[in-house]
Amino acid sequence: MSDLKFLSYDDLVQIRMEFATPSYVYDEKSLRAAAKQTLAFPHAFGFLPRYAMKAAPTAAILRIFNSEGLGIDASSVHEVERAIRAGFGTESISLSTQELPEDFRFWAKDGVKINLCSLNQIHKIGSWKLGEPVGLRFNPGTGSGGTKRTNVGGPSSSFGIWKGDLQKARDLCKDYGLTVERIHTHIGSGSDPEVWKKVAVMSLNIVREFPSVHTLNLGGGFKVARMPDETATDLQEVGEPVKALFKDFAEETGRELSLEIEPGTFLAAHACSLVSTVQDITVTGSEGYRFIKLDAGMTEILRPSLYGAQHPIHIVPEPGQIDRREICPQVVVGHCCESGDLLTPAPGDPETLSPRLLPRGEVDDFCIIDSVGAYCSSMTAKNYNSFPEAAEVLKKEDGNLALIRKRQTFDQLVENEVVP
Ligand SMILES: *Cc1c(COP(=O)(O)O)cnc(C)c1O
Repeated sequence: MSDLKFLSYDDLVQIRMEFATPSYVYDEKSLRAAAKQTLAFPHAFGFLPRYAMKAAPTAAILRIFNSEGLGIDASSVHEVERAIRAGFGTESISLSTQELPEDFRFWAKDGVKINLCSLNQIHKIGSWKLGEPVGLRFNPGTGSGGTKRTNVGGPSSSFGIWKGDLQKARDLCKDYGLTVERIHTHIGSGSDPEVWKKVAVMSLNIVREFPSVHTLNLGGGFKVARMPDETATDLQEVGEPVKALFKDFAEETGRELSLEIEPGTFLAAHACSLVSTVQDITVTGSEGYRFIKLDAGMTEILRPSLYGAQHPIHIVPEPGQIDRREICPQVVVGHCCESGDLLTPAPGDPETLSPRLLPRGEVDDFCIIDSVGAYCSSMTAKNYNSFPEAAEVLKKEDGNLALIRKRQTFDQLVENEVVP
């Protein structure tokens, strides 16, 4: 039990009884600790960290980060609305989006900031004649994502204005009378200080082309170590050279730039565990595998099926039993009728089964999947096989467990259906 991050066996029993499984359980202490670490990011002049809320957008989580003093990075106009409903002021929200709908103009008037992510978005917001200053998101031409699918910079990425279109973007803003006050780059998950330094240099060179810019946002992408062999980002190590570059820039140009960063993963990933129950066991002969089947799967956590992402998995029998369970290689699968519903793929290769050494699982054991705070509950194959959306629970600082999102009911699952 000692290797569970923040849950005791009593917690697990209470969760099963009160909320049923599968349930996501977030830990308030961990969320607040990650926020404090983020707020301590080295910076030379002004600084605002924003929470990339697509990682986990539940109101109770947003409220915790709001109370810690973080701003919001929203990825859609819907997220903007969600942040406002959860209590964020419009002025603390910034939108960087692939899809810019007409009704954003009202939010923009109310003070929500925007980083325009394409030449067409410049046209669009220019034609609205709002008179508000804007930010521009550039693709600086390089990226450092953990996998091809999490790489969000470079020629294979559609995010942001391509670096070669900088003059076009500048001319368009001038034509529309748009003041550019922020430059934004976000290039994907990375922990290498050299990459951050390189991106900061590239981004500062973009800022040079826009004399009215006072804020540079370097995005998120701070990698966390879910598994023992992964490297976590040391924010101090990454931030110090960036701080030095901002100081050099100020000395050279007289411009003291504010810094923004917008982590999602770093703030939320370790702060949640999925509590599930072993439903069944299948053994496919001596040439095959021992499969542990859960009451959860791609309907709760899609990252392994999508990227071959690795998450710690714990088999938790009743206390006293664990010593009687031999450690053996087992494949953990989800409850969907889909062979890709696999929780133990090979790293980076979602198509290959990779048996993991775990205590021999039996029906009714708890199975806990760790580090599911980011891009799990918010990015599922929701309602596939008509499984209802799982509940979300918060372990509060005082140790009590509180429901923060109810399990979806069967009526909710079918409520939008119409039979003509
Ligand atoms: C998703 C996203 C982030 C957060 O990325 P993480 O890897 O979770 O830190 C930050 N900024 C933008 C624009 C994003 O789309």
